Amino acid sequence: MPWRVKSEGRGRHQAVYYFFVESSHKDEYTTSAMSHVRVAESPKNIGRALYATAVFEPGEFVAEYTGVRIPTAIADSLTDNRYLFELDSKWTIDGTDESNIARFINHSCEPNCEAEIRDGHIIISASEPIQSGEEFTIDYGEEYFKDFLEGKCLCGSMQCRSGKK
Ligand SMILES: [Zn+2]
Repeated sequence: MPWRVKSEGRGRHQAVYYFFVESSHKDEYTTSAMSHVRVAESPKNIGRALYATAVFEPGEFVAEYTGVRIPTAIADSLTDNRYLFELDSKWTIDGTDESNIARFINHSCEPNCEAEIRDGHIIISASEPIQSGEEFTIDYGEEYFKDFLEGKCLCGSMQCRSGKK
C-alpha cells in the first residue's frame, strides 16, 4: 500500500471531507494567497520547504494541492510516489509537478496547517496562527511517517512520533 493522505483520515490533521456549497467560488483558492508564501531550502537539510511571507490567521487559505487526477486504483500501485493525495475512493491527485507549491509543505507531528477537501479541491489552510518567515507544516499521518520518514522525523516538536516509540 503506498502512502497517501486519506480523505477520511484517522489523524485529526488529515484531510476532512467538506462539501463546498457554492461552486462559483472554485477558482478563488488558487490565486488568493500565492503571493504570501515562498519555497526555500530548509535549514534542516531535508530539501525545500514552504514558508509564510505574511501573517496567517487560523482558517486562512495557504495553498491548493494541485496536480494530475489519477484513478485511486492506479495510485495504489505507485508505491514510491510520496506526492499522492487521495480525494476519494475513485480519484487521487498526483502532486509531483513542482508547480504544485503545496508539495513543499513538510511533515510535522505538531503542524500549523491542515488539509480539507472542498468540492474536489484539496485546500490547505492555517490551523494555528503563523508568523511571517515561519515554515508551513502538515501532519501527513502514520503511513507517511512509517513509509517515507522511516520512523525518523525531524520536526522537533514535543509531540513528535519519533520521540515516543
Ligand atoms: Zn515529528
